[in-house]
Amino acid sequence: MDKNSLAYWQDKAATLSIEGRAFIDGAYRDAQSGRTFDCVSPIDGKLLAKVADSGAADVDAAVAAARRAFDARVWSGLNPRKRKSVLLRWAKLMREHRDELSLLETLDAGKPIADTTSVDVPGAAYCVEWYAEAIDKVGGEVVPSDHHLVGLVTREPIGVVAAVVPWNFPLLMAAWKFGPALAAGNSVVLKPSEKSPLTAIRVAQLALDAGIPAGVFNVVPGGGEPGKLLALHADVDCLAFTGSTNVGKLIMQYAGQSNLKRVWLELGGKSPNIVLPDCPDLDRAANAAAGAIFYNMGEMCTAGSRLLVHRDIKDAFLERLAVAARGYTPGNPLDPQTSMGAIVDQVQLDRVLGYIEAGRAEAKLLLGGSRVKQESGGFYIEPTVFDVKPDAKIAREEIFGPVLSVITFDTVEEAVRIANDSDYGLAAAVWTGNLTTAHEVARSLRAGTVWVNCYDEGGDMNFPFGGYKQSGNGRDKSLHALEKYTELKSTLVRLR
Ligand code: NAD
Repeated sequence: MDKNSLAYWQDKAATLSIEGRAFIDGAYRDAQSGRTFDCVSPIDGKLLAKVADSGAADVDAAVAAARRAFDARVWSGLNPRKRKSVLLRWAKLMREHRDELSLLETLDAGKPIADTTSVDVPGAAYCVEWYAEAIDKVGGEVVPSDHHLVGLVTREPIGVVAAVVPWNFPLLMAAWKFGPALAAGNSVVLKPSEKSPLTAIRVAQLALDAGIPAGVFNVVPGGGEPGKLLALHADVDCLAFTGSTNVGKLIMQYAGQSNLKRVWLELGGKSPNIVLPDCPDLDRAANAAAGAIFYNMGEMCTAGSRLLVHRDIKDAFLERLAVAARGYTPGNPLDPQTSMGAIVDQVQLDRVLGYIEAGRAEAKLLLGGSRVKQESGGFYIEPTVFDVKPDAKIAREEIFGPVLSVITFDTVEEAVRIANDSDYGLAAAVWTGNLTTAHEVARSLRAGTVWVNCYDEGGDMNFPFGGYKQSGNGRDKSLHALEKYTELKSTLVRLR
C-alpha cells in the first residue's frame, strides 16, 4: 500500500498494539492502585487505550529505582564513551521505530502524520544523538590558584532528575530533558502529560533494549498528581518542567516546601512577530506568519500569536496572510497530505473556542472562527484571525490554539514597546530590510529567541531555547542544558 496515503496509516493504526502501563525499574507495571485513565484520540474522540494512573506508590517506586541505579553507579559511573554508545543505540532504535512512534503520537495528540514522521520522532532521536556525541567531549577545568594547590572544577551528575512535560510535542519535549540529563549520567523519572503519554511509555522499552540499565529511565504516566508528587519528593534532586506558567509557579512552591530541588521551567509565551514597512519580502513574511501561528494547530509555546504590522503595509500583508492560511485547512491527521490536525482534547477545544468568543466581543474577526469537522467526532478548529487592540484579552493571554491577533502600529518604537509589554518573553521576530534596524530591534526585544526575517527557524540543537520573564528559567538544547543537570564541584588539592 502507498505509504503516502490515508489508507496506509489507517490500516497500520487498526493493528497497532498500544502499551499503557508505567515503566519502573526496567519493567512495565500497572499502577499499584490498579487505577487507569482513558487515553482518547482527538482525531475521532474514540478510546485508544487505558493508561496507568500513577499515584504515590508508583512515584515512590520509580524514584527509589532511579536512586538505587544512581547510587550503584551502573550509569553515572560509566565512562562517558560507554554512555554515548548506549544512547546512540537508543536513538537508532527510535529511528527504526519511526513509523510506529509517529503513529502513536498522531493518534494520541492529533498532530499531522507528515509532522510526526519528519519533526517529532526524528527530532527526538537527533536530540539524544547530539547529547550522546557531546558528552565525551566536554570536560572540566584546571583553574589558576596558589602555587601549592591544584584546583579542579568538575561537573557531576546531579542524581535523580524528574521531567514533567506537556502534550504539544510529547516525545520531543521529553527528549529535550532526558537527552542531556541521561547523557550527563543522571537517572530520570519522566512524567508525560495525561493527554499524550503513549510515546514516552513506548520509548522506555527501547531504552532498555538499547542497554540503558533498569532503574535509570522510568516513566510514570498520569495527570497533575504524579507531577506534584515528584515536585514535592524529598529524593528528587532536580525537576525539569515544560508546561504552563501557572503550573510552573506551583512547581517552584513545591520545591520550596520540600528539599529545594533544582527547578528548571520552560513555560508559556505570547510571542510578537513584527513586520516593519521595509520588510524585504511580504510573501515570505506572510507565509512565515501563518506558519508561526497555524503550524501544530497553534499548540506552540513559540507561536507567533501577536502579529504586529505597520499601518502602511497592513492591507497588503493581510491579503497575503489570508492566502497563506488556506494552506492550513484542518484535515485527518493520518492523511499525509494534512498540514493542520486536531486540537489535543475536548478541554483544549473548549478553551480555544472560549477565547474565540471573547475575541468576537472585543475585536474584529477577519478569518475563520469556527469548530469544523464535527461529524468526525474529533476536535478541529479552523485558522482564525482577529484585528485587535494591544490590550485585548486575546492579545495578552496565551491561547495555545490557531488564533492570531493582528495589532497595528505606526513607529518602530511603538512596535517594540507593544512587543515587550507582556508577562512572557519566550520568542519574537522582526522583518526588515535594514541591517541596523534589525540588530537594534533584536537587542531591544526581551525574549530568549529572536528571529530576523524568519520565524521558527533553527532545528539545530546548538541554539539554547527558553524564556525571559514568566516564560521560564534555564535553557533547553545546546551545551548549556548540561548545566541544568550537573552540579559544579571545586576540588582543591594541597601539594605540600
Ligand atoms: P500544563 O502546565 O497544564 O501541564 C504540563 C505538565 O504538568 C503535564 O504533564 C501535567 O500533567 C503536569 N501538571 C499539571 N498540574 C500539575 C501540578 N499541580 N504539579 C505538577 N505537575 C502538574 O501545560 P500543558 O497544557 O500540558 O502544556 C501547554 C503549556 O506548555 C503552554 O503554556 C505552553 O506554552 C507550554 N510549553 C512551553 C514550552 C517551552 O519550551 N517553553 C514548550 C512546550 C509547551
